[in-house]
Amino acid sequence: MRLELNNFEKARERMVQEQLITRNIVEPLVLKAMNTVPRQMFVEEALRAQAHGDFPLPIGEGQTISQPYIVALMTQALQLKGHETVLEIGTGSGYQTAIIATICEKVYTVERIKPLLIRARRLFDQLHYLNIVCKVDDGTLGWPENGPYDGIIVTAAGPQVPEPLVAQLADPGIMVIPVGDRFSQELLVVSKNQGAIKREPIENVRFVSLIGNHGWRL
Ligand code: SAH
Repeated sequence: MRLELNNFEKARERMVQEQLITRNIVEPLVLKAMNTVPRQMFVEEALRAQAHGDFPLPIGEGQTISQPYIVALMTQALQLKGHETVLEIGTGSGYQTAIIATICEKVYTVERIKPLLIRARRLFDQLHYLNIVCKVDDGTLGWPENGPYDGIIVTAAGPQVPEPLVAQLADPGIMVIPVGDRFSQELLVVSKNQGAIKREPIENVRFVSLIGNHGWRL
């Protein structure tokens, strides 16, 4: 068991060195979080040996845990310092949630598929992430009761930026979200500053579909 944990530690360090630092992930808080969260715990047992590879992996229900680089890139784009409240849409495995929760004050996360959320919530408890609140719902509607949010991260791709999410973004605030068609998208950084909304594409990506009221229909 001890030996196994050492192996994952090494895999994590290698992941940070070879996949992140070489691709311009430079923010110390992001690198530290990526070097801390046990990614192998967020995939099923049979896939643990591959958990730190440079690719996404299936997590059941037709969904995937994002490639480590994409998780780091999206987190870095949020420019978190530590005091923020963040809304995440698409909990999935809970890995991205745990990375953000390591850095900021509080994370609200919404997932539409109940069995995935139940599994993620169990992991949050087991690994003692005490600052994550989650629910099953259509995340394209946001979570208005707890907003506005300093950061919003959407880990599934829709045809446009959902209007409720723009409304629930604090000013100043940053949202990172993939937008495009079903097969390929641009990762957008949407920022709100003194009432003005700015959109900047930072990477070409391929995400699973954002399904809901302000996303794709099933
Ligand atoms: N961040 C996750 C990525 C999971 S894949 C991880 O690292 O594991 C994207 C997730 O978004 C899927 O679990 C999918 O069910 C969920 N999703 C899709 N549309 C959604 C919506 N409208 N509201 C909430 N979750 C949604």
